[in-house]
Amino acid sequence: MNTVMGLIDELRAEVKKRRIENPQELQPILSEKLIALLRGDEDAGLKYADTGITVFLFVGVNGVGKTTTIGKLAHRLKSEGKKVMLAAGDTFRAGAIEQLEQWGQRVGVDVIKQESGSDPAAVMYDAIHAAKSRGVDVLLCDTAGRLQNKTNLMEELNKIYRVIRREIPDAPHEALLVLDATMGQNALQQAKLFGDKTGLSGLVLTKLDSTAKGGIVIAIRQELDLPVKFVGLGEKMDDLQPFDSEQFVGALFTKWAAENEAE
Ligand code: GDP
Repeated sequence: MNTVMGLIDELRAEVKKRRIENPQELQPILSEKLIALLRGDEDAGLKYADTGITVFLFVGVNGVGKTTTIGKLAHRLKSEGKKVMLAAGDTFRAGAIEQLEQWGQRVGVDVIKQESGSDPAAVMYDAIHAAKSRGVDVLLCDTAGRLQNKTNLMEELNKIYRVIRREIPDAPHEALLVLDATMGQNALQQAKLFGDKTGLSGLVLTKLDSTAKGGIVIAIRQELDLPVKFVGLGEKMDDLQPFDSEQFVGALFTKWAAENEAE
């Protein structure tokens, strides 16, 4: 709502200034405004440790694509020549550890895990030590995303944070909230919830290959000032791209137009 009101005010001012009479002339102006709002995100590359291990923590509710994103990013970083390791911190969801292991095998990187149900902070501790002894450059940490029990989840994430910080004081170098483009308003709520508790540094927007427009990131950008670092465009290893605001806004309007034609 706030975002829309702000944009409408700006559009009104622009209509006056440019003496616009034809509504069709508005779309490019709106595009411009949205791109300006999101611009900067593409320069917001990932933050790495000056020396030693870089830790990226991934948070988000179940099903948004956390594990898949970690697998895809591992592939990307490995092809840049970095030594990557994965930490199976989602010890809660049945199958999450195996799924991460499969990605590890597919990409060809080590996965540090414990039994299902074990303390995720202990997994992180193990993973950091293993990463140190194996000369790893980047450690990607998966976490649980059950929302049925928010307080516990947030406490668990806090503990993970504390353990990581104790071992590597400037880590995690990124705390990325993974959001599913099909989520709509819910995504904003989630960003607020996770952001309050876990000090997020950016977003990954998945499933943009679907019909979902993912316009909610505009509101998140505006209200929480969190940059989109990557977008997910499918389930395969190569389907992760750095965010591009012009492309994103272009696709937003294309999808809109397709929907309107269909109606
Ligand atoms: P997690 O519970 O957050 O770890 O989510 P998963 O990584 O298990 O992903 C949930 C489902 O979404 C899986 O079927 C993935 O293959 C699928 N998925 C993840 N990212 C994308 C994406 O960018 N595009 C599409 N089409 N599917 C995705």
